[in-house]
Amino acid sequence: MSFEYIQKIPEPREILESLPVSEELRQLKDKRDTEIRDVIEGRSGKMLLIIGPCSAHDENAVCDYVSRLGKLQEAVNDKLLLIPRIYTNKPRTTGIGYKGMMHQPDPENEPNIVEGIRAIRKMHIRAMKESGLTAADEMLYPGNYPYLEDILSYVAIGARSVENQQHRLTVSGLDIPVGMKNPTSGDMEVMLNSVQAAQAPHTFSYNGWEVRTSGNPLTHCILRGAVNKYGQNLPNYHYEDLMALADTYMGRSFANPTIVVDTNHANSNKKYEQQPRIAVEIMQSRQQSETLKKMIKGLMVESYIVGGAQSVSENVYGRSITDPCLGWEESEELVKRVAGCM
Ligand code: PEP
Ligand code: MN
Repeated sequence: MSFEYIQKIPEPREILESLPVSEELRQLKDKRDTEIRDVIEGRSGKMLLIIGPCSAHDENAVCDYVSRLGKLQEAVNDKLLLIPRIYTNKPRTTGIGYKGMMHQPDPENEPNIVEGIRAIRKMHIRAMKESGLTAADEMLYPGNYPYLEDILSYVAIGARSVENQQHRLTVSGLDIPVGMKNPTSGDMEVMLNSVQAAQAPHTFSYNGWEVRTSGNPLTHCILRGAVNKYGQNLPNYHYEDLMALADTYMGRSFANPTIVVDTNHANSNKKYEQQPRIAVEIMQSRQQSETLKKMIKGLMVESYIVGGAQSVSENVYGRSITDPCLGWEESEELVKRVAGCM
């Protein structure tokens, strides 16, 4: 066997006790969770804007960015709920490359997961405190959710994980909205089956326990575009794609039918600067159909301080080291334009 057991990872209880969330932040999360739930459950006509860098690799730049979002939130309060993307685990297409802050608290150094878990919790708590917002993260390793369970307001299941049983079962036990992305193949059934699985109750094995969950009615779909067998990106944010999903979605009698559209990834062909145009097109489609207006409750945007992406060693402050992101000025404009389209 080639496993080397490097160090024992502390239990979530131990980590939560050493890096606790204050009473004030607990109340902030409660308030934000209610506001976000009201959108998914259709009591509020606002939209969710899940926005931020592809990966969060530098605490200072992330907190700077998220604080800017906190100020911007005030300008669009009556229309949008901004949910910062603070993504600390990255799935990699080939498995090679930066795995996110949880694995590598310093992207230029060796992995250290124990330090990484503390680093992501510290960053998330600081970002909440400085911005007044609560964040989204991707659930890449379902067993790690308890390390951030008192912090996150939104979780996404990525295109490469959405067909996985353990992800689906774990989501069935969460009490916050979870977006299931379409798989890279673009298969809508896989995404809808995932929503069905997560909305149902389950008994399964989780972190050394037999657990029972009640099902998560806030689980919904995220369209992120697809990749065909020739490796070409195929968008799925156009009117016809949205209507086709809405039709099949409604046929399956799920709780809270909700579509969130990701404007980057295969939808933009990673041409990150196209995101404002894509966002506006989605908002226009929403105005063409009462069904879409009801069902499209959010957008996901990859945005950071400096536009584009860089290699790990370049060290440009506020620039992505994974997928290319929209720069701050363009992002601010996008947020205002989307609010103006409502
Ligand atoms: C992401 O959101 O950065 C991401 C990796 O998305 P996807 O799973 O859609 O590729
Ligand atoms: Mn990305």
